[in-house]
Amino acid sequence: MKIKEQENNLMEKIVSLCKRRGFVFPGSEIYGGLAGTWDYGHLGNELLHNIKQSWWNKFVATREDIYGIRAAILMNTKVWDASGHVAGFADPLENGEKFNTMFKTQVGAKKEEIITSYLRPETAQGIFVNFKNTVDAFHPKLPFGIAQIGKAFRNEIAPRDFLFRQREFDQMEIEYFVRSTDWEKYFKYWKDEMLEWIEEIGLDMKKIHDVEVAEDDRAHYSQRTVDFEFEYPFGQKELFGLAYRGDFDLKNHKLNYSDPDTQELFVPHVIEPTFGVDRAVLALLLSAYAEDELGGEKRTYLKLKPALAPVKVAVFPLLRNKPELVKKAREIYTNLKQEIPSIIFDDNGNIGKRYRRQDEIGTPFCVTVDFDTIKDDTVTVRDRDTGTQERVKAGELAEFIKNKLV
Ligand code: ATP
Repeated sequence: MKIKEQENNLMEKIVSLCKRRGFVFPGSEIYGGLAGTWDYGHLGNELLHNIKQSWWNKFVATREDIYGIRAAILMNTKVWDASGHVAGFADPLENGEKFNTMFKTQVGAKKEEIITSYLRPETAQGIFVNFKNTVDAFHPKLPFGIAQIGKAFRNEIAPRDFLFRQREFDQMEIEYFVRSTDWEKYFKYWKDEMLEWIEEIGLDMKKIHDVEVAEDDRAHYSQRTVDFEFEYPFGQKELFGLAYRGDFDLKNHKLNYSDPDTQELFVPHVIEPTFGVDRAVLALLLSAYAEDELGGEKRTYLKLKPALAPVKVAVFPLLRNKPELVKKAREIYTNLKQEIPSIIFDDNGNIGKRYRRQDEIGTPFCVTVDFDTIKDDTVTVRDRDTGTQERVKAGELAEFIKNKLV
């Protein structure tokens, strides 16, 4: 099979697995869909949540120089005038006319009170308009950052490629404020930090490339941009981006900063690492998807890092028609669930089928309760990637699994 065909097949396989197993469904499907929208099912939502949590832990919770916020999606129109989005956030149409991709909406009920607003096309502006509030509340010294995770909306001219180009998606952004003389140092620092997280979540590093973006292709606010591109089956395209926004935004919003020691008043410069959550989900699924043969049978599995896997452990009774096994398995499931969330109980079909089902959704561990469990209180723990099984004492199961959930 030609490489192109194989890659198209891979996309089809991922889209089909996502629908069949409850990761991602087409938006508004029962009414024929709505282009550029996708709905996350239980497993996709868990994966999305785990990605966001890993990001928040690394870049906000475990640091002292970054403040998290959650700004409103609807903002005063003046924000989008000042940010340059009303004038400049446009993509070229086929005939060369430019089309502004912000979604317009109306705020207010009474005719005379109605004002035009936009669904935000980036989370960044919610951060800039809270710059002064954050400085006044926390008195941070430079350099410091403000981070936000949330929805962004763009009326993309041609939404396509599954989660890659949607009209509504999640962003994780940091605006990192520095002295103008330090921007190059912190640009490099953030490039390294981004790469570290990309590797930490288990993206295929062979498919990641950092690309310097030429001036003509940069966003209106950027003086330097490096894109982290991923080799998707439909081509090497942007995954995340790093931009040097200079003093563009704070200056336009007429904001400045007073050094708490010297009282010097100036406009800080901004380094912006930005991450699309949905593109992370897609790139992770593409990195994790694997097919092999185990015990003479073909199988599909998702080699997700255990910490990101939507389901951590599946607990089975060996046979569903043996009440003593079902009872014991239920007991082990209930105890384990208190200590490790995202655990499921499954007694459908034979054990081989259950393993295949869990492999396909990336569950790293399957625990089976069999007749030996009744005698010696041990269970088998099967590893997703190798298929190997170990016997572990039921009382030590939670600790055993917790140590592997990294
Ligand atoms: P592209 O060139 O692919 O349109 P962009 O340069 O416009 O992307 P940015 O403005 O840098 O993207 O947005 C920041 C991040 O948001 C991107 O790195 C990407 O991960 C994500 N993103 C942007 N547009 C979309 C979209 N339509 N659907 C899903 N994620 C998106």
